[in-house]
Amino acid sequence: MKKHNIENFETKCVHSGIGSYQFGPVTPPIYQTSTFRFDSAQHGASLFAGKEKGYIYTRMTNPTVEALEDCVAELEGGYKALGCASGMAAVHTVFASMLKAGDHVVCSSIVYGPTSTLLSTIMSNFGVETTFVDTADLVKVKESMRPNTKMLYVETPANPTLSITDLEGAAKIAHANNARLVVDNTFLSPALQRPIELGADVVLHSMTKFLNGHADVVAGIVVVKDEETYKIFRKVLNQTGGVIDPFNSFLVHRGIKTLSLRMQKHCENAQLVAEFLEKHPLVKWVSYPGLKSHPQYELAKKQHKGGHGGVISFEVEGGYEAGEIMMNSVKLCQLAVSLGGIETLIQHPASMTHASMGKEGRKNAGITEGLVRLSVGIENAADIIECLENALEQTTKTDTTVFEQV
Ligand SMILES: *Cc1c(COP(=O)(O)O)cnc(C)c1O
Repeated sequence: MKKHNIENFETKCVHSGIGSYQFGPVTPPIYQTSTFRFDSAQHGASLFAGKEKGYIYTRMTNPTVEALEDCVAELEGGYKALGCASGMAAVHTVFASMLKAGDHVVCSSIVYGPTSTLLSTIMSNFGVETTFVDTADLVKVKESMRPNTKMLYVETPANPTLSITDLEGAAKIAHANNARLVVDNTFLSPALQRPIELGADVVLHSMTKFLNGHADVVAGIVVVKDEETYKIFRKVLNQTGGVIDPFNSFLVHRGIKTLSLRMQKHCENAQLVAEFLEKHPLVKWVSYPGLKSHPQYELAKKQHKGGHGGVISFEVEGGYEAGEIMMNSVKLCQLAVSLGGIETLIQHPASMTHASMGKEGRKNAGITEGLVRLSVGIENAADIIECLENALEQTTKTDTTVFEQV
């Protein structure tokens, strides 16, 4: 099928990755098959030898998966992408493809918990050493680089503090040291941040979050910039097996068609909610890159494309206990971890996602006891604000049994 070159992001979301299929469907069919029949012994041999394009076995490639991969590669401005079973499978694919015993990694100190654990346990057992550093501070990043540093791994905005790393600056430091910059772009999606344009070598996502956007799939993806890297990564993914399946690929690809629209609404709502929280007397501070009070407001404006995403963190007056009361008082906002879906989710990192870090670990990372993380959905902003206002009010009441629990 002929498609003219698409320039605009919204149009890409709708059309990218969609090829031509038997009977002319406008959406890629779900090729729910584990294996593909060869026309002849010669055809099979030619596919295995890579002389002919085609499909062999779904762990290697599958047309439904490929449609999604081509779509995300185009949205991120990469060469090709590799669909993975989860965001963590994507992180592991990157580590297993790029690192070997004796290598050193510099990683943001505030990253998704399992990513930091993967580096400090499994990768460490395989002889890879990691230095965790606040990558928002490029001087510290530069100081942490060693001759054997092969990877600078960054998550920006950070989870849950929402501090920002300057990706252009980070790429320069990595490349001056012959290292590669890997960016976890889960929090903003390519609608709002495109790390490859800023110098990153590899981009990955938990598609569980904004890319799919509907809280009904666990999946991940890795985007690379050139054919050579792609071949290495594809081999590793094929050998380790953490691939996405056709049905989930179909769902994520379906979700991406509204990515641009959803992100606009997430940003608009999050801005309104952040401004409401900042003015509230029971809120100590709010961290959202779209607020002038964010220490990296200017950098965020430069680095993000037209918005700052749907995630907000804030500190309730009254610490851990107040955070807990708030969690038990929300009615519209769902008390659940994860983020990036159409529904607003609320959680308390000190007792949930970041509980295993311990109080001291959290303190060092800037994750305070009353910090509440909000993933603002696409509901009417006034409804979200009303829910939060009621929940905040409950934190001032000592007898928590007087209100109805949901
Ligand atoms: C959720 C998440 C991951 C892990 O993704 P899964 O799909 O849950 O495996 C990685 N990085 C970030 C920033 C995330 O939010």
